[in-house]
Amino acid sequence: MSKDEEAILEVKGLKVGIESTSILKGIDLRIPQGEIHAIMGRNGSGKTTTANVIMGHPAYEIEEGEILLNGESLLEMEPWERSRAGVFLSFQYPQSIPGLQVGNFLRKSVSSVRGEDAARGSGFRESLSEAMEELDIPKSFLSRYVNDGFSGGEKKRFEILQLMLLQPKLAVLDETDSGLDIDGIRTVAKGINSVVRGTENGALIITHYSRILEHVNPDRVHIMIGGKIVASGGPSLANLLEDNGYDWLEDQIAEGVVFE
Ligand code: ADP
Ligand code: MG
Repeated sequence: MSKDEEAILEVKGLKVGIESTSILKGIDLRIPQGEIHAIMGRNGSGKTTTANVIMGHPAYEIEEGEILLNGESLLEMEPWERSRAGVFLSFQYPQSIPGLQVGNFLRKSVSSVRGEDAARGSGFRESLSEAMEELDIPKSFLSRYVNDGFSGGEKKRFEILQLMLLQPKLAVLDETDSGLDIDGIRTVAKGINSVVRGTENGALIITHYSRILEHVNPDRVHIMIGGKIVASGGPSLANLLEDNGYDWLEDQIAEGVVFE
């Protein structure tokens, strides 16, 4: 197997702009199969841009670089094609869809991503009730409208429910932990672990806080500053950052300290 085939996600020299402003200034990222990586960074550092560009958001201009899923280029694909190829994006601010019930939405998503058979019959119902039980989501949830009047915690649990049913090859979670209490964080972490650990899938968790990472235990942590990944290391890098802050990290890098 070539190096590319073993990685679920490979981002190479990615430069991205919007309305002639440069946002991502050369991102390299490689997530091997079965691994969970995290990106941490201040507000405005380019984390959501990275997530959106992986999913194929049309507002961004790809100036340079490559994004490969299992060695296959994503850049020419429409967002729905990426979704069918196995990319899942959990939004920082999930949209509400009044009129569309959760149960119907889930069946439609599973059918369009994994095929009609996966969304039919007892198999679907069983995996749905198993996932809902694991996430502490009551049955009554299925008849509510998508994200309509959901609390912050309910929105995030619903994102993870979608994740568990879709079983994507690559899950990108943009601040899914924001606004969650400790039980919510544990639940979200359990869902992420269940779709990645021991599989050939991978996940990229974008977060402000190291809290969720204590429950997910990522294989690698990357720090993004000003549209670049300035440091990558093991899970302890998240704790170092939490204890000392971004200014400290920038000073360390300026002094030539290398984080591994
Ligand atoms: P993060 O998620 O790390 O907080 P973003 O990726 O959302 O950062 O934003 C990175 C930078 O790109 C910010 O300076 C932001 O203002 C800018 N940016 C993002 N989206 C747009 C947009 N649609 N139009 C103009 N500027 C944008
Ligand atoms: Mg963001």
